[in-house]
Amino acid sequence: MKKYDFIIAGGGMAGLSLAYYMTRSSLRDRSILILDREQKNRNDRTWCFWENGAGPFESIMFRKWNTVNFHGTTHSGPLDLGTYEYKMLRGIDFYAFVQKELDKWPNIERRQATINRIKDTPQGGFVIADDEPYIADYVFDSTLTLRTDQPENHNLLQHFKGWVIKTERPCFDPKQPEIMDFRVEQHGDCRFVYVMPFDAQTALVEFTLFNDKLMTDAEYDADITRYLEQYLDTGTYQIDETEYGIIPMSDTHTEENPSEHIVRIGTSGGHTKASTGYTFQRTQRYLRAIVENMAATGVPNRNPPWFNKRFKLYDSIFLNVLQKRRHSAADVFTRFYAENHPVKAFRFLDEDTRFFDEIRLFTTMPWWPFTAAFFDVIRRKLIG
Ligand SMILES: Cc1cc2nc3c(=O)[nH]c(=O)nc-3n(C[C@H](O)[C@H](O)[C@H](O)COP(=O)(O)OP(=O)(O)OC[C@H]3O[C@@H](n4cnc5c(N)ncnc54)[C@H](O)[C@@H]3O)c2cc1C
Repeated sequence: MKKYDFIIAGGGMAGLSLAYYMTRSSLRDRSILILDREQKNRNDRTWCFWENGAGPFESIMFRKWNTVNFHGTTHSGPLDLGTYEYKMLRGIDFYAFVQKELDKWPNIERRQATINRIKDTPQGGFVIADDEPYIADYVFDSTLTLRTDQPENHNLLQHFKGWVIKTERPCFDPKQPEIMDFRVEQHGDCRFVYVMPFDAQTALVEFTLFNDKLMTDAEYDADITRYLEQYLDTGTYQIDETEYGIIPMSDTHTEENPSEHIVRIGTSGGHTKASTGYTFQRTQRYLRAIVENMAATGVPNRNPPWFNKRFKLYDSIFLNVLQKRRHSAADVFTRFYAENHPVKAFRFLDEDTRFFDEIRLFTTMPWWPFTAAFFDVIRRKLIG
C-alpha cells in the first residue's frame, strides 16, 4: 500500500484550503491524497466574513462592501467598518478556484469516495474509504460530526434558510448589506435576517435563528416571505437558489490533535467561533498556522498562547446568556455593535483584542445577565 505524506479527509472548505496553503509552502512537493464523497461542483453555500486588506482568495470574492447595515433595538443604520471590508465568497467559486490550482500539482490526488473509518496506528494515520485502505504520516480530518450531548456544555444551533431572489422592482441597496436585522418576531430567541445584495434587484435573503430547535422548511419559508412583505418593496419575485445550513454553536471541547497522526480541521477541529458560528476566516488562520508549523518543525501542532483561552470562557458566557434566555439577544447584539466601535467588535470576535479592550467592551453589556451567566458557567465546569 502506498504511504502518502498527508491524507486530507474531506475536501470541503477546510480540506481544500489546507491543500492550497501547502502548495504555497515548502510542503508543496509532498504526496497528498484528498478524499471526499462529493465532487464539490455545486454552489452549496456562501461564506460571508470581514477582513482587513486583501486575503488569499481575493481574486474570487463575489462581493465586497465597505459598510454594513444593522437593525437592532436602539440602533438602526450603518456601521463604520474602518479599514475592514465585509466580503462574500460563493462556494462554487472557491471549489473551482482551489481545485484548478491543485490540478497543477501531480503530487496531489483527489478521489471521490466515502470515508468509513479513520484510525491512528503506530505506522501512521489510517483511512478506509469505499472499502479501500489508505495510510499517511498525517491525516487531516474535517469529516467528524461533533458530539453535543454533554450537559456541562452549551449546545445551540445556528440554523438558517436563505433564498437568492430576483425582484421585479429595485429594492436592495447594492452598496450596503444588512448583517443583522432584528425587526422580526423574536419568540424569546435570537432571530434575525441577513440581506446580501448582489445588485438592486438580486439578493440573498436569509432567515437565521440561534436556538436548539430546528424548524420545518415551510416555517423558514413563511418567515422569509413575511420579512419580504413587511420590509422590502419587491413587487413580484422569483427564487433562483436556496441555501440551508446548521452550524454548531457549542463550547464542547474539541481536540484538534486527538492522536499522534490525526489532526482535525474546520468545524470538526473546533474552528467555528462558538458564539457567532463564523468559521471561514478562523479556519484559514488556523490552517496557515498548521502549515507554518509543519514546514518549520515537521509536526502540525498549533499551540495558541494559554492566555487566549479566555476567549473560550467569553464564548461560554455568551452562549449561557442565549441558552438561558437571560436577556434579549437583539439588545445584546445592539449594545455590542452600536456601543463599541465595530472595528473593536470585529477584533474582539477575531480574538485579537487586549484584555483592557475586552473589559471596556464588557461594560457595555447588561451586567446582571452576564454576571449570572459567568457564575453558572463556572458552576457547570466545576460540578457538571
Ligand atoms: C449553508 C452554510 C452557510 C455558511 N455560511 C457561513 C458564513 O457565511 N461564514 C462563515 O464563517 N461560516 C459559514 N458557514 C460555516 C462554515 O464556514 C462552513 O460549514 C464550512 O464549509 C466548514 O468547513 P469544513 O471544511 O469544516 O466543512 P465542509 O466544508 O462541510 O467540508 C467537509 C467535507 O467533508 C466531506 N465529508 C463529510 N463526511 C464524509 C465522509 N464520510 N466521506 C467522505 N467525505 C465526507 C463533505 O462532503 C465535505 O465536503 C456556513 C455553513 C453552511 C452549511
